[in-house]
This record gives sequence, C-alpha cells and structure tokens, in this order.
Amino acid sequence: MESSRKWPFCEQGTEFMKKTRDAVVIIAEAQGDETAPITLELLALAREIQLAQPCKIRFLMVGHGTEATARDLARRTGREVVAVEAETLRDYNTETCLEILQEHLPGLSPRFVLMGQTPRGMDLAPRLAVRLGAGCITGVDALCVEEGELRFSRTAFGGKISLQMAPARSITVVTATPGAFTAPQESVSSQGTVRLVSSARRSARSRTLGIIEAPRQERGLSEADVIVAAGRGIGTRENLALIERLASVFPRSAVAASRPLCDQGWMDYPRQVGLTGATVSPKLYFACGISGAVQHAVGMQGSGFIVAVSRDPHAAIFRIADVCVVDDLEAFIPAFLALCREE
Ligand SMILES: Cc1cc2nc3c(=O)[nH]c(=O)nc-3n(C[C@H](O)[C@H](O)[C@H](O)COP(=O)(O)OP(=O)(O)OC[C@H]3O[C@@H](n4cnc5c(N)ncnc54)[C@H](O)[C@@H]3O)c2cc1C
Repeated sequence: MESSRKWPFCEQGTEFMKKTRDAVVIIAEAQGDETAPITLELLALAREIQLAQPCKIRFLMVGHGTEATARDLARRTGREVVAVEAETLRDYNTETCLEILQEHLPGLSPRFVLMGQTPRGMDLAPRLAVRLGAGCITGVDALCVEEGELRFSRTAFGGKISLQMAPARSITVVTATPGAFTAPQESVSSQGTVRLVSSARRSARSRTLGIIEAPRQERGLSEADVIVAAGRGIGTRENLALIERLASVFPRSAVAASRPLCDQGWMDYPRQVGLTGATVSPKLYFACGISGAVQHAVGMQGSGFIVAVSRDPHAAIFRIADVCVVDDLEAFIPAFLALCREE
C-alpha cells in the first residue's frame, strides 16, 4: 500500500506520485566513450522485469561528453537513449547529477529506476529515492516472480544469507551488483536513436573543486597467472608472510587482499580485489581466510580456477570455489608448502 508519509525532499509532489508509470529507466554509465558493461547487465535485469510486468525500457544518461557513449549504447541496444549533456558535470558532482535526474526522470514515467551497484550508483541511488519519494533496493543479484509479484534478491552478512525484497512503493530505485546479470549478446536490427538534451543546471548545495585519480591498478595483479589473496581470516599482520611464501611457490604470481586488510593498512589499496578494488581473472585464485562476500566475489569470480581456504564450512566463497579447503590456514598453508618442497 502507498504510504501517506510526506518525504522531506520529495520536490515533485503528489502529482508525480499519482502519474501512470509504465517504464523501467536504466541510468547508463560510460567507460571512456563506450557503454560500461554494467549498463548492458541492467538491460538484462530490465528485460526480466518486463517479462513479468509489461513495460517500456528506456535509457537515461547524464554527464559531460555523453554523446559518443549514448550513440554506442543506442547502436548496441537498438533503443532510444536520452542523453543529458551538462557542462556543469565536467567534474562529477553528486548534487548536480541528482537535480538533473530529478528534472528528467518524471518525463520518462519510471516504475523502476535501475543503476549499477557501482561507486556512482551507490552515491546516487538512496539520495534519488528519497527525493522521488521512492523505495530503494540495493545490491540486487537476482530477480524472481512469485504469485505475479517481483522479488529482488540480495545477500547480507558477508554472503551468508539471501534476502528477498518486494517493491512496496509505486516507484522503486534498484541497484544491481556488477556481474550478477548477463548482458544480452544478440545483434539488434535497429540502430537506435539518441535524444540529446542540454542542461546548465548547477547545484547550489556543493561545488566540486577537482578530482584526483587513484593510482592505477598495480600491474602485478592484472598480469599475474596466480593470485594468492589474504582475508581477515589471516588474523595477524605477521601471517602475511605465510601468504607471500605460498605465492612464491607459483611462477608469475602476485599477492592480493580483501578490503578489511587494506582498510587496516596491512596491504596497499591497489592490491584490493572486489567491487571497490581491482577486477582480476588469473588462471588460479587462491583465497585464504576470505568469506566470499559478494563485494569481493565480483572482483574475482571470473578467475580460471578458484581454491578457497576457510575455517567456516558455510563460507560463501565455497559456492564459487573449485576446491574448498575447510581448515585453519595456519595449519593448511605450512602443510601445503611442505608438500610442495617434497614434490
Ligand atoms: C560498498 C562496499 C564495497 C565493498 N568493496 C569491497 C571490495 O572491493 N573488496 C572486498 O574484499 N570487500 C569489499 N567490501 C567488504 C565486504 O562486504 C566484506 O566485508 C569483506 O570482503 C570481508 O572480507 P574478508 O572475507 O576478508 O573477511 P570476513 O568476512 O571476516 O571473512 C574471514 C573469513 O576467514 C575465515 N577464517 C577466520 N580465521 C581463519 C583461519 N585461522 N583459517 C582459515 N579461515 C579463517 C572466516 O571463517 C571467514 O570465512 C565492500 C563492502 C561494501 C559495503
């Protein structure tokens, strides 16, 4: 049932809430001049929604230098892309982006607004939901339909439990985990169209002074055939030596880590694997003391072969591992190294 609660920033007012909404609007992201993979993965999710609840699928792109990406997206999907070109977004600004989305979304009649669970999607989605008076479901990795009702799935508690969430408001902002939905591969017959709109909107709430790019992903990780990754399960900083000794057994190997280790300063951020770190696909990924939270898994699930060592037999990493070792890593790694020496 629609809540009568008045949302503090719902500037569109009740007319917007009453309007008929018949579309899934995908907020497109760019990677250079091309469509970011997550945008096409969102198209797969939109189609699943469309199968259950007939609706239109629309793309909305907001930023600076959007035209080339919008044309790429239209060509790849054969659909219409609305691209809002804003000189004011030469440097990304959350508030300006939100105000532009808020201005253009109502005209596209969204029932669902889809974004990636990416740094940008995570920044915008909850704020946008509040402004639209919408519901917000984040980190979705699957969709199912029960008794005609859509149920979005996401994991919680480091991947140990799966939640199913049903949209309860007439408009819902949804973010999808990168890699969870498979981008459609088929060729399209139409070229699609691009509707370019320009915007001079600049938020008075904040100003971007400049953007400093993070150091590039360490060459070692992207080039390694074998990655040995340490997680919180290593317990102490001293145990990193065990991980390094394990890595040294393999030629062309590198050491990586889950986010908590980088947050603790035990390893540099360029070695972090996952949603907010590097995406890697070595021939062998050796996960030591890593639970396999979805934010870590999205960065390494494309690896050729996965070996995971964890004390917890129910660790989520075992769902994607080829070899599951339920053991204390302080016992397993020295035993494994001893075997290697014998060999
Ligand atoms: C927005 C957002 C972005 C994020 N981005 C990332 C990201 O990019 N990368 C990332 O990694 N995480 C990321 N996270 C964090 C993520 O949700 C998890 O909290 C994190 O991955 C958990 O790290 P872990 O597996 O090392 O630790 P834990 O979840 O604590 O797992 C430790 C594992 O080690 C096992 N263990 C403990 N002791 C031993 C032992 N002696 N021997 C063997 N096993 C043992 C435990 O049973 C457990 O399975 C992000 C989170 C958020 C909210």
